[in-house]
Amino acid sequence: MVRVLIADDDKAWLDLLEIVLKQDGHEAVRAADGAEAWAVLQRSDAPLMAILDWMMPGIDGIEVVRRVRALQTDQLPYLIILTARDQKSDIIEALNAGANDYVAKPFNVGELRARVAVGRRVVEMQQALLDSRRELAHLATHDPLTGMLNRRAILDRLVEELSRAARQGSTLAVGMCDIDHFKVVNDTHGHQTGDDVLQGLARVMAASLRGYDRAGRFGGEEFLVVAPMEAREDPVPVFERLRGQVAESRIPTRSGPMSVTVSIGVVIHRGDATTDTLLTAADAALYEAKRLGRNRVALHGRLAVEST
Ligand code: GH3
Ligand code: MG
Ligand code: MG
Repeated sequence: MVRVLIADDDKAWLDLLEIVLKQDGHEAVRAADGAEAWAVLQRSDAPLMAILDWMMPGIDGIEVVRRVRALQTDQLPYLIILTARDQKSDIIEALNAGANDYVAKPFNVGELRARVAVGRRVVEMQQALLDSRRELAHLATHDPLTGMLNRRAILDRLVEELSRAARQGSTLAVGMCDIDHFKVVNDTHGHQTGDDVLQGLARVMAASLRGYDRAGRFGGEEFLVVAPMEAREDPVPVFERLRGQVAESRIPTRSGPMSVTVSIGVVIHRGDATTDTLLTAADAALYEAKRLGRNRVALHGRLAVEST
């Protein structure tokens, strides 16, 4: 089944097209002229195939084709021009404008159905390609175990957020979170249970962070959080809440519910810091949080926040 936009200023043709499409199980979206067709084709949920009458008042079918082809979208709809004009030069004009196919009016019902079937194959093939491209893009940017952004993707976010902060005069907090004594979990319960903890922790982090914060798996049991901040906002509450929620949660694992804590080193971006200097400072703060006893947040350049 394909959703097909049909556009014709003659209602009788629209009715006939709709009947033919429905016979083959397709869904018809009707447009009474070119302007209406153009409006429908600009929507994000636009049909992936359109049968457009050439001669329509206002915007004609060829103009609709030209406008659709000028849109910058991944999904290129399959466009069939329908018209009584059947000189070779007309066919050439329609195809040059960007139409995929051309059917002369009055059309033979069997031919139209066959041409719609060709279009459907093209649309489905394109859909499959787009799906696999999206899947590859997801694989390239996400950590397979936790589903979080991977190291490269979270670093990309950091770079993006740094330039956004520079543009908007806002700031940024970067938190390096590391599970405390995680080796003990692996040594006691096995690596798979350790993996369960990592997965559970990713869920706790996602639930704790604000919608515009980003978290990624930076390394084995280390997570990087990029948290946009107002100019003079204190970043500690954001990370204190995260630390507290991790400490309180019981993560389900194959060895039963488990509790872990995290230490978090936080640095606030100021002036012209680079990603390198930020990460180094966050690491230093993390080291400080570990040294002071773990399960705590340490802010670079300030005394560590005591855990409760
Ligand atoms: P600390 O409090 O100082 O951070 O102690 P720790 O034991 O957490 O730190 P350490 O760096 O000594 O050990 C980290 C452990 O994390 C060792 C490694 O086996 C484990 N780890 C890293 N990646 C994974 C993973 O993908 N799955 C599991 N199960 N364990 C992992
Ligand atoms: Mg650790
Ligand atoms: Mg570590």
